[in-house]
Formats: sequence, C-alpha cells, structure tokens
Amino acid sequence: MKLLDLFIKKRSSKFRSAYVIINPAAGKMQINKFLNLSKSYFKKYKIKYEYSLTASQGDASRLAHKAVQDKYDIVFAAGGDGTVNEVANGIMSSSKTVLGIIPLGTVNILSLELNIPQNPLKALDLIFEGRVNNIDIGKANDKYFVLMAGCGFDSYAIYRVNLKLKKYLGAIAYIFAGLYSAIKYKPKKININIDNHRIDDVGYFVVAENAGSYGGMFKLAPYADFNDGLLDVCVFKKYGFFEVIRYFWGIALGQHMDFPDVRYYQCRNVELFSDENVLLHTDGELIGSLPVSVTVNKERLKILVP
Ligand SMILES: [Mg+2]
Repeated sequence: MKLLDLFIKKRSSKFRSAYVIINPAAGKMQINKFLNLSKSYFKKYKIKYEYSLTASQGDASRLAHKAVQDKYDIVFAAGGDGTVNEVANGIMSSSKTVLGIIPLGTVNILSLELNIPQNPLKALDLIFEGRVNNIDIGKANDKYFVLMAGCGFDSYAIYRVNLKLKKYLGAIAYIFAGLYSAIKYKPKKININIDNHRIDDVGYFVVAENAGSYGGMFKLAPYADFNDGLLDVCVFKKYGFFEVIRYFWGIALGQHMDFPDVRYYQCRNVELFSDENVLLHTDGELIGSLPVSVTVNKERLKILVP
C-alpha cells in the first residue's frame, strides 16, 4: 500500500490550475458524482481548481474567457459539443490556454474523434497521462468552430428540433427533426466561392468540415484532417424529400462520395451566399444566416488528448 502511495505521489502534471465549465443539461446525479470525485482528485494532486455551471447560451464562452484572464492553465468543457464550441471560442484570445474535454451528458463528437475517454474521470486523468496537441480551428464570420459550419437543410433541422425531445432522446431527436424537415423545408439555392473563385455548383445543403464526423456515426467528410489547415466542403446539389433520404442513407453507408450530385472540395476559404434567408450553424448551434465566409486557422487550438 505504501509503495502504491509513493507511486501516486510521484505523479505530477504540467497543469497547476484548472477551470471546469459544466453544462447542467447532463443531469444532477451525473454532475454531483463528477463534482465529488474530481474535487478530491484535484485536492490530492494540489491542483488549483474552480467550477462553474452554465445557465444559458453564451455562459460557457464568457466563463472560459474569464478563466484565460485569471491565467488558468487549462479550461475543461464538461458537456457536449455545444459546450466545447463555446469554451473554444472563449479561450481563443489566448495562445497558451489549453482546452480539455470531459464528455458529460449529450453527444460529444469531438471527444470521439480525438479518442478522449468517455468516462469523465478518465478524461480528467489526461492532465497526467495526456499530451497537448495543436489542432485546426474553423472560423465562420466571427465565430470559431471545432467540427463544422453548415447551412441549408441541416440548419433548418436544428432550427426545428424540439428541445424537450432533445433532452430526453439526445441525438435521436435530430433524426425526427431531420425527417420532419425533409418534408417541410423549402429549398433555397446556396452559391459558393471556393478560395475566391466562383464555382458553378449550386447547393441546397452545404457543410464545411474541420472534423470528419457528422452527428457521430456519419462520416460526412472522409478526408478531413485536423492538422492540414484545410476545410473539407461537401455540397449537396439537389433537393427533395427522397434526395435527402438518399443523401443521408449514402452518408450512413459511406457511399455519398460516389453520388454524381455530391461535390467535395478541400480549400482554405469558402464563401456561401444566397438571395434568400438561409440559416447557418456552427457545431450544431444556429449563429445567424448567410452570407458567411469560412476560414480555418491551422493548428491554433491547444487541446488535451490521450
Ligand atoms: Mg482539415
């Protein structure tokens, strides 16, 4: 036992202080358990810590920005992809602050893509066992994103998703919203500039990916890479109920790249614009409407990974 204690005491982390931002949507029981265990963990290893729970949209971003000003070494986003997105936006004012991810509650695609343990305490343990990686971060107008920026059909589905249903069903709520939207959505033409060149393709559903996954199981951008300084843009050129079903079926099976009405581009900048009002989302949160200029900052985000 004494030997084991000695071994544990020898563990040291390069992080002396940690700020943990928690999205309470995860549920009281899960959060309380995580709070109790992680507090004793931080105390044991003499890491200065602070916790905050978010109450509304924008809180995580504001709290992360404050943590940067208070010189915390690492800011943990404990929640789903929405929380990660906000914390990433909040820490971009610093070139030193590291983003940590603790998957809690809802879907956390980024953690899956980066092989971060899905067990919250194991994810926290990366402050000893993990390493800091620099990954690309996208920017849509003035908002940063880690996964994707999308417009057209999918942002409409996000707009339509029932929040109560989302709370109980998680990702499945989006499938319902998707089916509903496939019937209801009035298609709008999206024009595209790739690296300042107008292309002939017009899309009804366009996604610029930093990560490859889309909604977890779907691999929308199979060639996406977090370190290549490029965006992977998928353009879906047709629209209709059966078209949407075919696209998503193709994405699920990994065959959409062979469809003649799907285009794929790798670029540093994509501009999307429309004569109509087309909603825009980053990482699954609506941020406004077109036009948008999407860029990527190569390896600008410091993130804790296994
Ligand atoms: Mg890339």
